[in-house]
Amino acid sequence: MSKTYSLTLTIKRYDPERSVSWFQTYRLEAGPILRFVDLFRKINVELDATLAWASSCEHAQCGSCSVNINGRPMLACELLVENAVALFGVTEFKITPVSVAPVVRDLVVDWEKAYERVHRSKPYLIKPKKLPPGMTGFRISPAELSRYEEATRCINCFCCAEACISGNRNFIGPNAAMASIVRMMDPREEGKDERLNLLYSEEGIYRCHTSKACSHVCPKKIDVAHFLALAKEGAF
Ligand code: SF4
Ligand code: SF4
Repeated sequence: MSKTYSLTLTIKRYDPERSVSWFQTYRLEAGPILRFVDLFRKINVELDATLAWASSCEHAQCGSCSVNINGRPMLACELLVENAVALFGVTEFKITPVSVAPVVRDLVVDWEKAYERVHRSKPYLIKPKKLPPGMTGFRISPAELSRYEEATRCINCFCCAEACISGNRNFIGPNAAMASIVRMMDPREEGKDERLNLLYSEEGIYRCHTSKACSHVCPKKIDVAHFLALAKEGAF
């Protein structure tokens, strides 16, 4: 029979009608391979139907379940109970919403606000290079692609932005900056001047202190700080 854990989850709540926030503690028994989204669902079913939280794909591909667990930004759909106990060495977890966007209710944030930064960085080819006559597609060599392929795994979960020591107010943030850097490295992009204007602006990459907290927490194992360092050197 698989082990059962006695867990204590202390969750930051927020009631927008009363503009009141507080911490609420839930105690529950859970098997080792339940994920944190499963724990939230269990709380809804067994203890408190009013707890609000968010998820969409629940396969670590959309980023909508990002929360802080014991101070570390993580995907609640990816973290198993047994892994959380091993990682933190405790069975008590404090869970708070991410601060990169305004809280709507409890653990639910307004992701549209967070995405405004990514939209500003234009995560698409601003000015695609024209195809040579007779060509139906653009060829990128494996060597060129290998320089930035890692960054294309980004799901915009904002865990890196949440962990970033440069804060959210003045800095566009690691994932938004990387979205522009990756297109600087894309040989099809001709709108590079516009990208440089953003990357070297007041909210750009020189706000980064190269702490690598972003790389440390990225659930997709992207070395985000490496891409920001390349941009600081102009090594696109
Ligand atoms: S770089 Fe990693 S942590 Fe940052 S948004 Fe993308 S997937 Fe999330
Ligand atoms: S390396 Fe730069 S972007 Fe990454 S967490 Fe540190 S300050 Fe933020």
